[in-house]
Amino acid sequence: MHVEIITIGNEVLSGRTLDTNFAFLARALEEASVPIGWHSTVGDTAERIADALRRALDRADGVVLTGGLGPTPDDITRKVVATTLGRPLQLDDTVLAGIRERAKRSGRKLPASIEGQALLPRGATVWPNPLGTAPGLLILEDEKPVILLPGVPQEMEALATAFVVPYLRERTGVAVESFTLRTAGVFESQLHERIGNLPQGWPGATLAYLPSYFGVDLRVTATGPDADLVRSVATRAHAELSARVGPVVYAEGGRAIEEVVGEALVAKGWHIATAESCTGGLLARRLTDTPGSSRYFERGFVTYSNASKTQLVGVDAGDLEAHGAVSAPVAEQLARGARARAGVELGVGITGIAGPDGGSEEKPVGTVFIAVSSPRGEAVRRYRFMGTRRTIRERAAQTALDLLRRELAGLPLDAKLEG
Ligand code: ATP
Ligand code: MG
Repeated sequence: MHVEIITIGNEVLSGRTLDTNFAFLARALEEASVPIGWHSTVGDTAERIADALRRALDRADGVVLTGGLGPTPDDITRKVVATTLGRPLQLDDTVLAGIRERAKRSGRKLPASIEGQALLPRGATVWPNPLGTAPGLLILEDEKPVILLPGVPQEMEALATAFVVPYLRERTGVAVESFTLRTAGVFESQLHERIGNLPQGWPGATLAYLPSYFGVDLRVTATGPDADLVRSVATRAHAELSARVGPVVYAEGGRAIEEVVGEALVAKGWHIATAESCTGGLLARRLTDTPGSSRYFERGFVTYSNASKTQLVGVDAGDLEAHGAVSAPVAEQLARGARARAGVELGVGITGIAGPDGGSEEKPVGTVFIAVSSPRGEAVRRYRFMGTRRTIRERAAQTALDLLRRELAGLPLDAKLEG
């Protein structure tokens, strides 16, 4: 079974609206092991939409269309699908009642055209939209599902999660088990070397390496007709993979490293303060992205200039002069100073060269020093990150979070696959 996704809309075709509906559907269906064969995008033109639908029905076993279900004249998907499939639009009383009910609750006078959303191609099954008036629709055309979803991303995502993914997954008749191990601090090639051909021993399972500047996620998806077998393969894969890469895994699933750090801080009853130069507050932002972070985040200093390093957290002016702002002694004093000034257990300091200018032979662009100071002691590390100014800053913040995670867990501070 291969599905085609058709996203509809002039604004998508022009590139002004990023096609996040496709990205969401593709990821959700991939996770459910529903294979996608094609993706096309068309504007709000009747012939193009009809053409795309006919072609999709020719080559695919199912079609998902998003966009153009709204009440405005440029929303023509429902009508075009009705015409193309020879299923005239008919008024659906339940959908109409739902629209009127929604209008009443909102207390607003809605245009009569809204009620046009209750006109459905004959034989369509309705998937109620919890966030809007246009429901999702399912039509079985010669056994092939044709699914219509609204274009508004939140509505599309809600309907996809509640109905489309389970429905298509059920139709494929395959069982799926998947898990993700999130790693930080090592390259994809190093992971690859360590993991080798381990996945060959997992029948029906695949391993995907998903790199980003947060690290490399390892995702294993096991599929097959026998649910028990699929589960046992996934369990074994989890154990074997963890044994190889465990030391660099910071979380499972979709958990972010700042959540892991936050939980460790709460568990210890510690508070944290940051002093950041090249990341300009990015680490503080990441730490405070997590709800409830006021329980452990005390304050952050953005010590960009030399003067602020001295004034705000007491970095020694002589050391700044002697070693430069980007140096191990300055990073250490940022961490120590942040901790002391805030009166907390854990301090972290970051100083580096994000570029594109300012590098030297001795300290090229991407050189970053990160230090931690805690009751356990003090440590500083030197890194060299590659990439643009933005990615160097992101990598520095991520690495600082991993360093904090290791410090809090009492692990060795350096990310190493062995041991
Ligand atoms: P509405 O009732 O709002 O008219 P609709 O089902 O007719 O909904 P569209 O008019 O196609 O959907 O799009 C509604 C909004 O959703 C637009 O702001 C559009 O930018 C956004 N949108 C549409 N398609 C996509 C897509 N593929 N990816 C991301 N956003 C999209
Ligand atoms: Mg619209």
